Amino acid sequence: MSTITFRCPSTRQYVQQIVADETDAERNAYMLVNCPACGKVHFLNRSTHKLLGHERE
Ligand SMILES: [Zn+2]
Repeated sequence: MSTITFRCPSTRQYVQQIVADETDAERNAYMLVNCPACGKVHFLNRSTHKLLGHERE
């Protein structure tokens, strides 16, 4: 298990999430996270912890 922090693009809030370490992590650059701030799901880059489409933020 790993703890990640990302910024929700909908609410602009910083969100801390615990994610499972998956065996196929190296094959998938992005993972789905359920966002507690806005209730939606976001694509999060595993290596940079940036959201898809918000890499510059
Ligand atoms: Zn969100």
